[in-house]
Amino acid sequence: MIVSLKPGANAAAIKSALAKLGLWAETSNDGKGHVQFRILEASAQANTQTRNAIAALEGVDSVWTAEAAHPLVDAQTGSICISGFTISNAQKTIIAGPCSVESESQIEEIAAAAAALGLRMIRGGAFKPRTSPYSFQGHGADALLWLRRAADRHGLLVVSEVLSESDVSRAAELAHLLQVGSRNMQNFALLRALGKTGRPVLLKRGAASTLEEWLLAGEHLLANGSPGVIFCERGIRGFDPSTRNLLDIGAVALLAHVHGQCVFADPSHGTGRKDILLPMAKAALAAGAAGIMVEVHPRPGEALSDGPQALSIVEFTHFVHELSQSGELAR
Ligand code: PEP
Ligand code: MN
Repeated sequence: MIVSLKPGANAAAIKSALAKLGLWAETSNDGKGHVQFRILEASAQANTQTRNAIAALEGVDSVWTAEAAHPLVDAQTGSICISGFTISNAQKTIIAGPCSVESESQIEEIAAAAAALGLRMIRGGAFKPRTSPYSFQGHGADALLWLRRAADRHGLLVVSEVLSESDVSRAAELAHLLQVGSRNMQNFALLRALGKTGRPVLLKRGAASTLEEWLLAGEHLLANGSPGVIFCERGIRGFDPSTRNLLDIGAVALLAHVHGQCVFADPSHGTGRKDILLPMAKAALAAGAAGIMVEVHPRPGEALSDGPQALSIVEFTHFVHELSQSGELAR
């Protein structure tokens, strides 16, 4: 970003005003009295509010920014409407459910518990991306139907992951919010197909993806017709096996506060352990997350996938009560 000053402007005062906006400016002076500031932060490019604040400073003549790489993402307001239910930083929510939808009765138990706690959305995997081909791969389209029926019985909305292009149309019929898994964040053919359904999308971050790559994946969805993208931080690959992944709270704050996005955090996949789920969820909400996605199973010891990180219904009830005390959760 280049900020040009009017002749005779108070460069020092403008530089300190930029510092108050959190921007570090390099000064260039052509020796004929034309002063320009060069601001390197990529974040400043993305944030229209910041650009307008700079343009309004006394003595600033013009603000030039390179063409935005993801204009549709930048234009998102931080608030996403899913079949009439609005999620935003001011209206935070919890989305809970099993890693895999295992049976109609399993998802019914979870839907009933979620509804009793006042939640509005449940999750559940029908098509499962598993590292090993010998692990449970999900019950597919049947599971989607069980998920939707259970949700309908309790007045809930559903989110479920779509693994391949061939499942997009069935998933868009049954799920209110479509999930792109971490492993598919840059599957551009899938992103195109999902965008075209006209459904909002929850876009998980790739385990080794930069923020810019993540934002551009969101741009693919919006450019193809999606009405809204929620970015879900689920941990990136770290070096320490103490946690399954490294939940990047800095990325949550950057996306929420600098890029103005609606961002979720998934501490279940982000840590892989339930003993620190609550503090991690609190940290993510404090950092600006509009919601938390969490895995719940009526009998975690019998789960067909991700049992060790799943909360039981009793643990989940405690989790929701603790987070509700912040008073920020939407009902
Ligand atoms: C999931 O949410 O079920 C899942 C597989 O998560 P991720 O894509 O973040 O690994
Ligand atoms: Mn899982």
